[in-house]
Amino acid sequence: MASSHVIFVLGAAIVMAVACGGGAWIYRRVRKPQLIRMLLLLGAGLVLAANTFCLLVKVADLWAAAVIAASLACGAALAALLLSWRVKAVHATLPRRVLAIGAHPDDLELACGGTLAKFIDSGHEVNGLIMSDGRVGGDVGERSKEAHRGAAFMGLTSIRHFDFTDTRLAEHGQEMVNAIEEAIRRFNPDIILTHSKHDQHQDHQAVHDATLRAARQHHSILCYESPSATRDFNPSVFIDIEDYVEAKVRAVQVHRDQAGKPYMTPARVRGVAAFRGSQAKRAAAEGYEPVRLLTSELRNP
Ligand SMILES: [Zn+2]
Repeated sequence: MASSHVIFVLGAAIVMAVACGGGAWIYRRVRKPQLIRMLLLLGAGLVLAANTFCLLVKVADLWAAAVIAASLACGAALAALLLSWRVKAVHATLPRRVLAIGAHPDDLELACGGTLAKFIDSGHEVNGLIMSDGRVGGDVGERSKEAHRGAAFMGLTSIRHFDFTDTRLAEHGQEMVNAIEEAIRRFNPDIILTHSKHDQHQDHQAVHDATLRAARQHHSILCYESPSATRDFNPSVFIDIEDYVEAKVRAVQVHRDQAGKPYMTPARVRGVAAFRGSQAKRAAAEGYEPVRLLTSELRNP
């Protein structure tokens, strides 16, 4: 009996440590991460307390057996919940290469974080370009680190960070064109994601223009929706992100330096996903304006 209690104590301690410290894994792999974290902590806490009590206090064999049976049942129930709520990625039969281009360190997460996470889970390769370090909008050192943390959380193969002047990217038009052309040569993307022309932020417009110039010979360019998109943003391509809304929320929260801004809140991120989902007749989606799109590039996303 005692050895069984020890095993449950150790197992419960490991589960609690994973639930406390392994938030990123849970947010990327489970559809209801907050609820499963709470249940893991609650269940493992009860198992830990009951088995510790049995080790420290002499209890009747019947009670010890009951604690072991209840611990097994608790572990099985948590495992069943994890399995049923896991993100079910559909593996692509034709893996694609995606190049995602943003003006600022948090643009990709806010605009297409769900899509990128889903693409990566499906087996596609995603590389990112960030054109400025975002020093006007926050702490330059933190923003740079957060861009890399966000990319790592989503699973990007690479993220390249340029330091063209924040808020004045239009002054670096040709330099950005050169940088994007070089990235297109290096990554040979099947799909390019970038800012929309229907966006009131001057840097977003500059990156949109530079992308279209650099990708003038490319067949598939989709423009994503930033919080600064205007009312003219009118998507006609949608990516279902029902299983990835909470991953997107978490990816946005990685950018703690920007946490005070209203468009960074989980409610806003979920709201935009629900609104675009309603347009796409899905629970949640991200919308895109195609500049042009070879539809075969979006099969099995
Ligand atoms: Zn931006």
